[in-house]
Amino acid sequence: MENPFRNLPSVSQLLESPPLKRLAENFNHQVVVDSVREFLDKVRDRMSKATEQVEVPSPGELATKIAAWFEDERRDLLVTVINGTGVLLHTGLGRAPLAQAAIDRIRDIAAGYASVEIDLRTGERGQRATIVERLLRELTGCEAAAVANNNAAATMLTLSSLAADKEVIVSRGQLIEIGGSYRLPEVMECAGCRLREVGTTNKTRLSDYEKAINDQTGAILRVHPSNYQIVGFTETPGVKELVELAHRYNLPLIDDVGSGALLDFAEFGLHDEPVVADSLAAGADVVLFSGDKLLGGPQAGLAIGKRQYINRILKNPLMRAMRVDKLTLAALQATLNLYLKRDEALREIPVLSMLTTSLANLQFRANKFASQIQHLPAIATAAAVEDRSMLGGGSMPAQHIPTWCVAIEPKELSLDQFSRRLREHRPAVMGRIARERFLLDFRTIPARLDPVLGDVFEHLFVAKS
Ligand SMILES: *Cc1c(COP(=O)(O)O)cnc(C)c1O
Repeated sequence: MENPFRNLPSVSQLLESPPLKRLAENFNHQVVVDSVREFLDKVRDRMSKATEQVEVPSPGELATKIAAWFEDERRDLLVTVINGTGVLLHTGLGRAPLAQAAIDRIRDIAAGYASVEIDLRTGERGQRATIVERLLRELTGCEAAAVANNNAAATMLTLSSLAADKEVIVSRGQLIEIGGSYRLPEVMECAGCRLREVGTTNKTRLSDYEKAINDQTGAILRVHPSNYQIVGFTETPGVKELVELAHRYNLPLIDDVGSGALLDFAEFGLHDEPVVADSLAAGADVVLFSGDKLLGGPQAGLAIGKRQYINRILKNPLMRAMRVDKLTLAALQATLNLYLKRDEALREIPVLSMLTTSLANLQFRANKFASQIQHLPAIATAAAVEDRSMLGGGSMPAQHIPTWCVAIEPKELSLDQFSRRLREHRPAVMGRIARERFLLDFRTIPARLDPVLGDVFEHLFVAKS
């Protein structure tokens, strides 16, 4: 049988064709050559697997295809997304958008050198967490602070610093898994601690904790069950009771509150979000939380509390592996600064302003957008509808927040094709599919992007298919 690959052009032949010649002049030569080889391998592979005779493309066609593929592969994988999913803290979309003040600080600090670890008053070397420590002290009542890359890191650092080779007591009702990769028993193991589970899934009494304390105990850990709710016949001791017990046995009480609520969110309809200051006031020795959840700042994990414990965390060699960079510190400081004035925080921090924006405002924007796009040829119907947003970021699925969406039925395109077009646009647009409609939730779309969204729709859906 004739070798079917014999008719494929060679790499050097292809590189002579105008589209690839141009690429080879503009990009690293070896990268282009390797890409041509990779593409040819794929063509050969497809040909060898094909059951029928495959047409061999002409060298010109092949070169054009390779050049298009090369450009496509170079498209940025990290792009701006207009989040119409209604999930405020969407981990897949990078959680909290930053406040303008934080963005400005990042820009200033990024361009040059900065006093990351130097106290300019004394000229001496210091801790980088000092930059945000004073603000955290004022906002939460803590004595000291350590900042790591995320709450998973802060938890691991804290456990490793305070209870390495010891037992850590946790209620069975709080052995959480968040987002698939964060599982408390595994974090505990990585930190070199032994998990001592007490109680049952729905009920853990103070006496269960007390019975588990022995000379091997290193700490008591309380974890806010952010992403699930145990309802019905339940019981679990509060922070204060656990603090009293822990201190009676000279143990630290570590409280992982999860979202990092610096305000009481109950008035905005979010119940069960523990407030950082309340936990400290109840006597918790170390309180742990994320920077990019309800706090509304950059990805970070904060461990704050009593000086003696935070100092041990800061001295842990793992701290070096998990410390944050100057950009995170800059953004965190600017975000915390906004909390000094409550109204400013609610207005300027995107997560807070999205949470507190009025339903009337969302309804107005949804109506306006629906009437703007309903005449487009590729759209069958578009109407403003009431729905529910979600907090997300490993938070309680039950925490539904009322909202207004535009519900769209495409004409001719399937819902999958429709959402794919929006996803592949730049800026990308993401929504959610519910009840056979494509929904765009206006709570998670900043009002300043409404015109941009309008342009995207005009651009994509003028034609019927
Ligand atoms: C989200 C969450 C974590 C993990 O925080 P990351 O910042 O994502 O690492 C840990 N504990 C609780 C209670 C959480 O809600």
